[in-house]
Amino acid sequence: VKAADAVQACLDRIEATEGSLNAFTHVQGESALSLAQSMDAAGPDSSKPLWGVPVSIKDILASKGDPARCGSKILENFTPFYDATAVKRLKDAGAIIIGRANMDEFAMGSSTESSAFGPTKNPWNTAKVPGGSSGGSAASVAAGQCFGSLGTDTGGSIRQPASFCGCVGIKPTYGRVSRYGCIAYASSLDQIGPLTRNVPDAALMLNVIAGHDTMDSTSATCDVPDYAAAVAAQKDLSGMTIGMPEEYWAEGLAKEVEDSCRAAIAKAEDMGAKVVPVSLPNTKYAVSSYYIIAMAEASSNLARFDGVRYGHREHADDLIDMYTASRSAGFGPEVKRRIMLGTYVLSAGYYDAYYRKAAQVRRLIRQDFLDAFTKCDLICGPASPVTAWGLNEKTDDPLQMYLMDIYTISLNLAGLPGISIPAGLGADSAMPVGLQLLGPAFGEEKLLAAAGALS
Ligand code: GLN
Repeated sequence: VKAADAVQACLDRIEATEGSLNAFTHVQGESALSLAQSMDAAGPDSSKPLWGVPVSIKDILASKGDPARCGSKILENFTPFYDATAVKRLKDAGAIIIGRANMDEFAMGSSTESSAFGPTKNPWNTAKVPGGSSGGSAASVAAGQCFGSLGTDTGGSIRQPASFCGCVGIKPTYGRVSRYGCIAYASSLDQIGPLTRNVPDAALMLNVIAGHDTMDSTSATCDVPDYAAAVAAQKDLSGMTIGMPEEYWAEGLAKEVEDSCRAAIAKAEDMGAKVVPVSLPNTKYAVSSYYIIAMAEASSNLARFDGVRYGHREHADDLIDMYTASRSAGFGPEVKRRIMLGTYVLSAGYYDAYYRKAAQVRRLIRQDFLDAFTKCDLICGPASPVTAWGLNEKTDDPLQMYLMDIYTISLNLAGLPGISIPAGLGADSAMPVGLQLLGPAFGEEKLLAAAGALS
């Protein structure tokens, strides 16, 4: 197999589909092809697990010399001069980056509609959203434009688009993958992870990017198991106990999603899993505490985009006016809304009522998971209460969009790993449904093994 053939096949696919999908903010066909040709000339290298594999990278991750705009106008001229650690590890493993995947601006959203580069469409039905914020990653994988992608998940942005586009997406334990070179949204929640066509590919990619990095002080030092071997070895689910949280199978869950997920769980039982009820009683507070914490952190992280150090600058007579004009012109409406709300919840007089409360609730949500994992190995639920919705359907009502994150955000607040795997098509919408498996801290091996057996 030639690397150049793989790259060319992806570029042909991009040529045929990109006009209707808009999955990329930038395609680097020429550089990908010339890298592939030089790799072919040197010959295949079996020491590199991703040798010659074309991948896309979410526009939030730094890749030396490639534009990184984070879906935003404010970074329109920004080209990093270094690699994010996860990107560096992919390159070292022989992967070939063919483009930058579209995303919600600064990863704020659940539909990829807040991108300054226009929305990405769902390859299954181009009248629908691909999910978000890693919608370009999911769409590019689902449409065959690349073999895998790196996304980020702050509150579901890997798992939810994977579920909407019928691919596999894993959000690792907080600290499992270095965040160095990832443009920060909410630093205590952000994690990088793979989106792929199947579970073995996700295991392979996670093996490459996981592990300690001295450039990220929150990166974990524990060993990285051989995920790919664990997936290959797992034949059934005997001996495994899967918890079904009563709060996840409740009001608001679309019947077609519930039916598809229940069918997948019945299959898990046939494969030997024992299914038990568990409870995550603080789930009802997850959306409010997540959005307070995420917006608070974002308001502080995004202070660096001032028109001086990066990207877009508007000219004005004095410094403060220049900051204001640059930020007003550079950020889109969703980002501005979040900076304002985040600043508000952190301000004197409101901090105790909002931010501190949210941080306390976060601790309770984590405790819910710790308690539940004394009764089961993994937890299962839907990745999203609905299948992909129509373009523009929820853009006028941000709260409606936030509420759609109910099944994914608790996991980020708790710092735990989760994976979304395809569970067939919904009976009403004929759109993909994702089954989510949630694991204990550093339980990626178990998660991937179970997901592999089940799919
Ligand atoms: N939809 C959530 C938000 O807008 C999650 C986004 C993400 O995980 N980056 O914050």
